[in-house]
Parts: sequence; C-alpha cells; structure tokens
Amino acid sequence: MSERILAAVMVAPRQPIEIREFATPELPPGSALLRTARSEVCGTDVHLWHGRLSGVPYPIIPGHVSAGTLQAVRGPLTGLDGSALQEGDRVAFFDVHRTCGRCRACTVHRTPTRCAARRVYGITDPAAEGLFGGWSQAIYLEPGVGLARLPDRVSFDDYIGGGCGLLTAVHVLERAELRPADSVLVQGTGAVGLSAIALARLSGASTIIAVGAPRDRLEMARRMGADHVFDVTMTAADQRLAEVRALTHGEGVDVVLEASGAAAAIEEGLNLVRDGGRYIVAGHYTDGGDSSINAHRQINRKHLEIRGCWGSEPGHFLRALALLERHAAQVPWREVGGRTYPLGRLNEALADAEAMRITKALVDPWAAA
Ligand SMILES: [Zn+2]
Ligand SMILES: [Zn+2]
Repeated sequence: MSERILAAVMVAPRQPIEIREFATPELPPGSALLRTARSEVCGTDVHLWHGRLSGVPYPIIPGHVSAGTLQAVRGPLTGLDGSALQEGDRVAFFDVHRTCGRCRACTVHRTPTRCAARRVYGITDPAAEGLFGGWSQAIYLEPGVGLARLPDRVSFDDYIGGGCGLLTAVHVLERAELRPADSVLVQGTGAVGLSAIALARLSGASTIIAVGAPRDRLEMARRMGADHVFDVTMTAADQRLAEVRALTHGEGVDVVLEASGAAAAIEEGLNLVRDGGRYIVAGHYTDGGDSSINAHRQINRKHLEIRGCWGSEPGHFLRALALLERHAAQVPWREVGGRTYPLGRLNEALADAEAMRITKALVDPWAAA
C-alpha cells in the first residue's frame, strides 16, 4: 500500500463527492488497517447525501458496511469468535463501535442499539478523525471494533450484496418472532426488504407477499422467496387489501415487516396484518413524515402488536455471516448489488441509487476510475 490513501469524502449534503488523500494512520495496540476490497452505496448513503439523518458530522467518509484484507495488525487481534486474526486474513467488521456497555440503555434496558455513546463507521464518524468509512482504499479498525473472518466460501460480493440490509433483516426477523408456517407480508423491496423475504423463507414462512417497486426489484423479490408480489405503483391499496385477505383465509397476514420508509406504508400495513398479528417497523430509519392511524380500528380492536427495530448488534452481524456461509449459493444476495463503482464514480452511484436504477451499488476503491 502506498503512503497516501485515497478516500471519497461526502463534504456536506447535496455537494459532489470529493476524492481526498489521507495519511496512513498510526496504529495503537489492538488496532488494524484494513485494505478495503468492497464497500457499498446503500439507501442510507442516499439519505446522508440528502441530509436527512440528524447528528452527522460532515465531512464524512461514507460506506458503513465494508470488508477487505487485514493489511497491518498491531498487537494481538481477535475476532468476535475469540480466534486470532492475522495480516492477510479476509475479514468483515461490525460498523457500530464504541457502544459503552455501561449506560442504562446497555445494561438496564438491554437495548444497546439505543446507547448514546455508539458510533457508526461511515455515518457518525467524522473524516477529520481519519479513515472511518469504506469509500476508501483503507479503513482504520480502532481497538474494540468487532471483527470476523469471512468464511472461505463467502466472497466479498456475497457479503456486500447482503450488506447492511441483511444485518438489519436479521434483526427484523428476530423482532418478528416468526412461527413455522406464518404468513408474512414485506412492505418495501429495497435491500432490507429483499433480505427479509429471504430470511422469512428460510425461517419456514408459508405465504410470503411483497409490496414494492420497481419491476426489477419485484422480480428479485420473487427470486429471494416471495410467492406473490404487488407493484405499489400499479395497484391500489384497497385492491391489495382484498387480494391479501383472499390469500390468507380472509384474515390478513400473521406478520407484516415494514421496510419501505413511506408514511403511507404504515397506514396500509396495519390493515394488512390479521387481528392479533404483529407489525414490525424497520424502514423508517429516517423521518418519513407522520402517518395517520386509527388506534381503535387499527390497533386496539385488532389486539395488534407493533414493534420498532433500530440498528443492529454484533450478534446480527455474526448471524448474517453464518447465513451467507450456509445459503449464499442458493439465495442471490450478491445480485442485490447492482453494479460496482470505483471511487471516482460515486456521484454517479448515488444518482443511480437515488433514481432506483439499482438497489445498491458496490464500491471497489482500488478499481480504475
Ligand atoms: Zn451504552
Ligand atoms: Zn447501509
């Protein structure tokens, strides 16, 4: 690796991405430098570019989920499974770091994704502090970051194809507590929704229904395991309600997984779940606006359970890796990554993701521009 490291920097919302040079960082004991093989441009990066996340310390190096090869290791380094890691190992890392383990959220409530101290590579780490993002030829892995060796049969493209959407979907499925043969409806066919469909299928769901757009994502939803798909732009809500009821003994589905981020999805989704069913909100990672809910009709009388799902934990990261190791040959995660872009073309990648021409973009920071 050369002395200077190239990284793509998001200077401020709506500003063009700039390529900047960074010095190779000093490595304190317990840290490492990762030579980035793949990162991604996901929906969150588009939201970052639109300035729709609060508390982001621009300029930042985006790219929160990434993987690569350990280039330099300082001192003993162990993975989350306790095994020793060495230079040359192919690894992925858990993007959330500095979760304190001592605050009330971490200890009393056992909701570490709500720890106020936590930071996220590529989202809440400023570029002024160094290489804390994947849109870079190298990533600084500070002491304490959760690392895992990539299983031999999981390629970088498999891992990033699943990416943050797969980690989130693992958490969503955990929150959903599916039972065998539950019927499931997934709202939204972006990276989270597509992985949620695949995991619902692997979890023994009976009927899986996807509501989303555009057409190529609905085709992908079928390949991920959906039995029925509805194009949200071509069908009306009352038509979808009638068809979903017809598919579910007139009741509605057992569980709805919301992964669309649209305010209107909440209003509709509460009608699509059966009485006594469960509704998981995972798509509203940014503020999609207010939803109108009739508490009597849509929640109380239905005896409904509604759960949020925020962020992910190291366990979701490790489960995602185990799922990829076992199932990536059958489930086409790597195809969720639409196209691979070099650092110099990330403005184009953001525009493509924004226009939904691709579900997500892969980033190869060593590819020629
Ligand atoms: Zn904490
Ligand atoms: Zn992401």
